[in-house]
Amino acid sequence: MGRKTLAIIKPDAVNDGYIGEIISMITKAGFKIKAMKMTYLTKAQAQKFYEVHKERPFYGELVDYMTSGPCVPIALEKDNAVADYRKLIGATDPAEAEEGTVRKLYARNKQFNAVHGSDSDENAEKEVAFFFSEQEILENYFD
Ligand code: ADP
Ligand code: MG
Repeated sequence: MGRKTLAIIKPDAVNDGYIGEIISMITKAGFKIKAMKMTYLTKAQAQKFYEVHKERPFYGELVDYMTSGPCVPIALEKDNAVADYRKLIGATDPAEAEEGTVRKLYARNKQFNAVHGSDSDENAEKEVAFFFSEQEILENYFD
């Protein structure tokens, strides 16, 4: 199992003031932050990032949502990162998410669901590279 995943604190959660709470949940769950930034996606960037969903009926809305305000992509590291992070955030629809998960606590609904998480090791690699150059992914002095 890979040790990398990409998280994004999405525009609804940034707007709602939950950056700090969400980062706190992530680090308390044992993930190390390898890179992080606040950025404002262009329409072209959001379309490219969510290209796998381009045939889905919600693709247009998803692109509008992800370009509606700044978001915070975060490159994370941990054993079993993809699965453990998805467990921490909960189901796509907060109505179906387990108690205590990020989405249960901070998502508004199935569309405005507070956070992104990679769905496979392969996509984690691609998604981290989408947001961060190699120079931005720094080795930690204390590791
Ligand atoms: P996840 O983010 O849990 O991996 P998906 O990859 O299936 O979920 O979907 C990507 C994102 O698209 C979701 O996080 C959510 O913001 C949005 N989305 C998913 N399903 C719907 C839907 N039925 N209607 C509107 N937006 C949706
Ligand atoms: Mg997904």
